[in-house]
Amino acid sequence: MNRRDFLKSALTIAAFAPVMKLAAGAMAAAGLAPKQEPPSKEKVSRRRYKDTDLTLPLLGFGLMRLPKLRPNDSKIDRVAAKKMIARAFASGVNYFDTAYMYHGGDSENFAGEALSDYPRESYLLASKMPVGMLKTPADTERIFREQLAKCRTGYFDFYLLHNLNRSSWPKAVKFKVWEFLRQQQKEGKIRKLGFSFHDTPEFLQTIVSAHEWDFAQIQLNYLDWTLYRSREQYEILTAKKIPIIIMEPLKGGMLARMNPEARRILHQADPHASIASWGIRYAASLPNVLCVLSGMSAADQVEDNIRTLSPLRELTEEEKKMLLGRVVSAERKSAAIACTGCRYCMPCPADVEIPKIFEIYNRYRARKNRDQFLREYRALGADCDASACVSCGACRSKCPQHLDIPKELAAIAKTFAALNKN
Ligand code: SF4
Ligand code: SF4
Repeated sequence: MNRRDFLKSALTIAAFAPVMKLAAGAMAAAGLAPKQEPPSKEKVSRRRYKDTDLTLPLLGFGLMRLPKLRPNDSKIDRVAAKKMIARAFASGVNYFDTAYMYHGGDSENFAGEALSDYPRESYLLASKMPVGMLKTPADTERIFREQLAKCRTGYFDFYLLHNLNRSSWPKAVKFKVWEFLRQQQKEGKIRKLGFSFHDTPEFLQTIVSAHEWDFAQIQLNYLDWTLYRSREQYEILTAKKIPIIIMEPLKGGMLARMNPEARRILHQADPHASIASWGIRYAASLPNVLCVLSGMSAADQVEDNIRTLSPLRELTEEEKKMLLGRVVSAERKSAAIACTGCRYCMPCPADVEIPKIFEIYNRYRARKNRDQFLREYRALGADCDASACVSCGACRSKCPQHLDIPKELAAIAKTFAALNKN
């Protein structure tokens, strides 16, 4: 009997039952529990999907920012990433969110490879149809089959139309993407069918009125609550009784860094809490939220998130007021660029490292460390820095944050030139 068959026969688990304890036990019994990880006592809080037996961990593992072998390419450090998954699994984090284009297409391969160490019934897997990449209606089926093969699964627990907005939606309608996926759901290849969304609340109304949706995934965090109108989106979905999965609870890491003034306020409020924990708690405290995704890229982030949600301490009214008031005002003073690092704008035909440049610049705006900025910016190389942008505009329409990327890059190139002179 091979290792997978052994595990499968060792476990008879009803789909979606609370499985983590059993799975961990079977792994240990098989001598397969990751030996390098300490035994974990804490379990992440879970939320129930409507009135069913299905529960999701409040922390979901986003597989879009896995540790990389080298900073400037997309190759996943599989050894480090698998250890992080084992650690998360041991604390009940069994929701994994991948997508066709994450890590240049390798995230789904990695998900299939890493999760094949665990019984299929013990985890919940989400992936997404890249509507923006479809060229013909036939691509929908071709990509869906490819995804099942890459993820080494016969079904997805959660499946989304990826990044619906007013430019991708007409294509989704024309190619009948929802209809195709609904058929897959009827055939048992999808359990819950939803969509991820980056646009205005007005446009969200159009999408939720078009079909029956089992869930929706939106960008929500305390900085975007009013700025990006996340609150209105949350309210629209809640009124329609559509459960929500949260992405970007830390705004691509921005709410884990923060400027010194915002950090000071948070530290005073709770000296023992990490800066990132406030963003995770904010999203998880909302009652219509099923799961908060975190694109974890290092072991300490996994530890911190698990600590934050084991169990969830809901925010008090005072804490919410502090975040939405003093902390947001302090953070906005540094007027950083609202890039979340999603990389939807990449690749750039001129090889400009757009998200990396914004990350370096945002760090400079928050910390005002000129030497660090110059060092990091120079390390990009003149072929990939902001001055390499030829203003073709190809990236602009792809950015879910609606950033005027060429304009921001031109301003950064100027800042670099000025600081470099002095
Ligand atoms: S506008 Fe600049 S950054 Fe954007 S795709 Fe074109 S060259 Fe690249
Ligand atoms: S510039 Fe926009 S599309 Fe590109 S990484 Fe940042 S948020 Fe994503």
